[in-house]
Formats: sequence, structure tokens, C-alpha cells
Amino acid sequence: MCGIVGYTGPRQAYPVVVKGLKRLEYRGYDSAGVALVNGDLKVFKKKGKVADLEENNVGKDLNGHIGIGHTRWATHGEPSDRNAHPHQSQSGELAMIHNGIIENYAQIKQELLSKGYTFKSDTDTEVLLNFIDDIKKNNNCSVEEALRIALKRVVGAYCILLISKDDPETIIAARKGSPLVIGIGKGEHFLASDASPIIEYTKEVVYVNDYEIAIVRPDELILKNLGNEKQTPYITKLDMELAKIEKGGYEHFMLKEIHEQPETIHDCLRGRLQVETGEIKMGGIQNHIDALVNADRILMVACGTSWHAGLIAEYVFEELCRIPVEVEYASEFRYRNPVVKKGDVIIAISQSGETADTLVALEKAKEQGAFIFGVVNVVGSSIARISHAGAYTHAGPEIGVASTKAFTGQLAVLMMMALKIGYAKGTISKERYLHLMNELDAVPDKVKQILADTSNIERIANKYKDATDALFLGRGYNFPVALEGALKLKEISYIHAEGYPAAEMKHGPIALVDENLPVVFVATKDSYYEKIISNVQEIKARKGRVVAVASEGDNVITTMSEDVMFVPECDEVIAPLLSTIPLQLLSYYVGVAKGYNVDMPRNLAKSVTVE
Ligand code: GLU
Repeated sequence: MCGIVGYTGPRQAYPVVVKGLKRLEYRGYDSAGVALVNGDLKVFKKKGKVADLEENNVGKDLNGHIGIGHTRWATHGEPSDRNAHPHQSQSGELAMIHNGIIENYAQIKQELLSKGYTFKSDTDTEVLLNFIDDIKKNNNCSVEEALRIALKRVVGAYCILLISKDDPETIIAARKGSPLVIGIGKGEHFLASDASPIIEYTKEVVYVNDYEIAIVRPDELILKNLGNEKQTPYITKLDMELAKIEKGGYEHFMLKEIHEQPETIHDCLRGRLQVETGEIKMGGIQNHIDALVNADRILMVACGTSWHAGLIAEYVFEELCRIPVEVEYASEFRYRNPVVKKGDVIIAISQSGETADTLVALEKAKEQGAFIFGVVNVVGSSIARISHAGAYTHAGPEIGVASTKAFTGQLAVLMMMALKIGYAKGTISKERYLHLMNELDAVPDKVKQILADTSNIERIANKYKDATDALFLGRGYNFPVALEGALKLKEISYIHAEGYPAAEMKHGPIALVDENLPVVFVATKDSYYEKIISNVQEIKARKGRVVAVASEGDNVITTMSEDVMFVPECDEVIAPLLSTIPLQLLSYYVGVAKGYNVDMPRNLAKSVTVE
């Protein structure tokens, strides 16, 4: 994780870098820091958020036309001033920021210690920096050359930016596994982990590839590979609006993003779901329809909320396409020596498209002959680039650390995919295909209905906010929704919550039920409805406090529940797109009621670019 920003050009670098860091704070907020060159190399850093750094810097000389900045999600060493980036080399000549993990840092550190180096921090980053400095000194070479030699020894993931005291123009950058975008201005360059800090200055960007080094000056951008051969920078045009990454009147990004869902789901369906002609147009699928229709098996590979989207898709794909589906945690899959064959289709699901575990898992599966299909939100991201084909979720920048609109975007894409493949394969009838297309088409309006009045959900959140634990239960398509509801509550409100298949609770979790435990049932009208009603009774019989997500007009469940959050009726295949919305709002309002920073929950970061 970590957010990285750099600037070189005629402007004052500090304000550009700090503003950029604020946009990247979703990637980590354990500490923030900036290094500037202005005659001397100056480093300013502070534990906490970017605002704390700014406060700490009031009145200081922050002049300089070149700067690098970092917002950290700690992996090596506690969050503290001394572990904050930028780090400075022992010689005082270089300053560096880093996103990633240097896996063999301990060994390199030992070598440097035996040469008399001392370290001011516990980070792997400082080790790499002194390693570069040491190579430079011993070989009497340039920083660029020293970096190239150092990177050949490095095991792990990195995006680094380096500046030198003696060079007030040049930023040297390198990446492997962690993202880096370079914005090209007129006589100036901007560097960042994603495009959000760059967008207001230029729309022309270059996505740096793994194993590339960039030498960036105001008027010049040179890309090289680790073999010192020049590469041609591939310039892409950004398609992103500034308003989309600002709060637009909402108190939090999370609330804004929840409320954007009618529009983002609509954007995701637009042009693809063509109800009038009965067609689903998805280029990534159409061009590879044979591989998809004839897949022996589909493997959904993802982490966190995206993994829940994969679980829902398992139900949908098996029902509509009759293809066996397995859903894998990317972090387990990549280390398990999994059996992957030609004929397997891997669907990689990731908001950022940079999730380190997912990325490596894909590389492995690709080597073994699988067909890789990426479902990602961030255009041009690493997963999008290594996939054979894919479909973007078009949810726009998601800043709130807890995923909301990206999740519903993933569901919309996966549902359209299953429908298209199932229909091409002949495993669903035309009638069911058209019916489900219409149902999907109606989702944005139905989400709008749920969001029109959220006061009931806010009231429920305030009522249960002091609970210490909560259970979320669902069956069938709504079982993964229960898992996602529990995850959201944990993330935002720090309340211990567990999701379970409603029937499974009899095999253990029911022992937790007492008169204090809120049990949230996701119980919309579907083919499991009667069964879940029995489960509600079982909880009630043990005095659990039942809260239900139910279909509008269901007056049976109202008699059994202390509180109900209604969603419009829809086909059960589509239901997760609606039933998840009240649960997002519930955790949001609980988090707010408890006074927590819902956009930046403790210990978390959004784009998990470390293993
Ligand atoms: N490993 C570095 C640190 O702990 C960078 C962490 C990251 O990129 O998340 O400071």
C-alpha cells in the first residue's frame, strides 16, 4: 500500500505533493512525509495523517521545485515519526520513498551493519536506500546505475522515488509490483501511485511497467529497463473527472459513494445491457466467447470484499452457466501449488487492479495455461494489463476505504457475464435471459428507492451501536451478502461481527445468541425464504435480537423482527445488488454514531499492494 507523489517543474513542489498525498491517503495513513531539494535536501515527516504533517510544518521553509511525498501503511516498523518516509541515506545525499516490501531486507541489512552502517528506522526501505548509497560509493557510479545494480538483488515489491541533494531537477523512479503513474505536463512532471493527484494538472499519463526505471526531469522523461535499454513511454489519456474524487457535499466519501450507486450501476450496465434488442455487449466476452462457454471450470480469485463478489458470482454462474466454480482467496491460492489447467478460466476481481496477492496468483495461473479475465475498477491498472480480457466496473474512483460502489459494480459485471455466457451456452432459456436482463436494468431505480429515505437505517444503527458483537445470516445468493455485511461492520465500527450461512449457525454460532446479540438476517423473498424464516424463529426462541433485510410488503417477517430494513422485490439472482445496500448504510451509520473516521478506518488501507 502507501501513497507516493513526486513533482519536478517550475511550481512550488510542496503544495502539489501535499495535495496529492491527501488524495492518496486512502492507501495508508500511518504517517506522512515530504522531501524537497532547495540548496539542501530537506525532509519533513510526521506520524499520523497528512493534515498532521501540514500542521507540523507551519512556519517552516518549504520552498523547492522538486519534491517527493509519502503516506504510509506500515509493514516494517510501527507507525512513528522515525519510521515515516521519506528516508534519508546515511551519507545524507539521497532521500527515498517506497511502496511495497523488500523481502530480503534482513540479509542486506546484516551486510550493511557489518560495514558499519547504522539505521534510524526499522523499515525495509531505509535498508534499500543505504544499499543503493553503498553501491554508488563503492562503484563510484551514478545514482541511476547504483539503483539498477541494487534492484537486481532485491526480492519483493516496490515502487520507489529517489531524489539527490546534488540534483535539483531529477526524480529517479522504479517499480515492480506496486503502481506508478507519471503525468506529463508542459515543462513539468508529476508522479503518483494513481492518477488522482495528477488529474487536475494534465490528462496525459504514462503507466510505468514492472522492472522499469524512470528518470524524470521537468523537460524529460526517460524510461529504461533493468538492462539499461531505453523503452518508449506509452502515453495514455486519462478519462477521469476531478469532481468524482471530491466529496461533493457529502460528509464522508463512503456516504457519497453509497449514494452514487444508482448512477455507477447504471454506468456499468450502460451500452452493455441492451434490453430493447435482447443483447449484452461486452467486448471482452464476445472476443473470447469460445474459451468462456467451453470452460471446464471457473476460478474466482480475489481478496476481501471482492472475494464476496466472487462468492455471489459462484451461485450465479453455476445456476446460469452450469460451469463448476471455485472461489479462491488469492493469498492462499498463490502459495498452494494449485492445479490449474488449460481450459480453466480465472476471473480476477479487484477494485484497484493492484492487489498484490491477486496479481501474483494470476501470473502463476497464466503460466499454467489458464485464460485470465479481469474484473477491475481502475482503468489501466496492473491486473487489467496482465489479463487476456476483461470488463471494467466503471464505478469511478472509490476513495472510502470500505468498498461499496465498486462491490456493486463487480456484481453487475459478473451478473451480465453469467447471463451472456449462459445464454450463448444454451443453459438458460431465452425467456429467463430476457427476464433477468430486465431485472438487472431495473436495479439502478430500485437502489434509488432504497436510498431515498435512509432515516430508518440510521435509527437502527443508533439503537445497536453499542453492541459488542453481531451475527449476519443469509442463505443462497444472500449468504455472501451476510458475509459482506459483517465485514463492513467490522471495518467501519470495529464491532466484532461474523457472517454465516443461516442454517449453519446451528452448528456452533448459535451458542453466542443471547438477549444482547443483534442477529441481522438477509431474508428477501427467494426460494430459501421459508427456510430462513425457520432460522429466524430459532434465533427468536433464544432471545436474540432479530434485525431483518426484507422484501417490501413482507409483513410476516415484521412480526418476528425487532427492526426491518426493506428493499424492493426482485429476482433472487439479482437480489444481492439490493440487499447489500442497507447493510452498507447500517455500518456507515454505526461507525459515524461511534465517532469513528469511516473513510479511513484504523489499520486499514484501500489498495493492498503488499502481500
Ligand atoms: N515497507 C515499507 C514500510 O513499512 C512500505 C510499506 C508499504 O508500502 O505499505 O514503511
